[in-house]
Amino acid sequence: MEKPRTERRVFEAASLAARWHAKQRRKGEAEEPYINHLLEVAALIERHAEGASADLLIAALLHDGIEDQGIAPEVIRERFGPRVLSIVEEVSDDKNLPKKVRKQLQIDRASSKSREAKVLVLADKISNLTTLAESPPTDWTPTRRVEYVSWCRAVVDQMRGVSGQLESLFDAAADAAELAARKP
Ligand code: ZN
Repeated sequence: MEKPRTERRVFEAASLAARWHAKQRRKGEAEEPYINHLLEVAALIERHAEGASADLLIAALLHDGIEDQGIAPEVIRERFGPRVLSIVEEVSDDKNLPKKVRKQLQIDRASSKSREAKVLVLADKISNLTTLAESPPTDWTPTRRVEYVSWCRAVVDQMRGVSGQLESLFDAAADAAELAARKP
């Protein structure tokens, strides 16, 4: 059987993600379409993570499908293979657990994730912090925003050494989000 071209698989993942998240908006006051976040995360990885595989770029596009849209894991495995699924599962929270537990687990499990999952978490947090700085959710107090930044830092501090470029971008995004939250 002919092996599908990389570009074809990536575009397939992008259009599938656009459909899965068609009715979802980002939390910020600009209420951007959710696909903007997924494309941003994939683009960050493509540009800044050396030697990123096609599976990682596809996982970046699909990374919130299970967690936010309840997509069945088998759908991802059948269309894109077991490696893509395992990266997506590594970065998906178990929504059955209370939020506090999920947040702590992200810190506790960060260091044992695969290299590719760490790269994806880094890019995801950069995208989220950039939005938090530029378009924070209207119902978040400054305290909540600062706490979110601290939590992101606690997660990322457990996975340093995986991509110098993404880590620098993360640090800058975290500083900018904290500064914006503390602005009177
Ligand atoms: Zn995400």
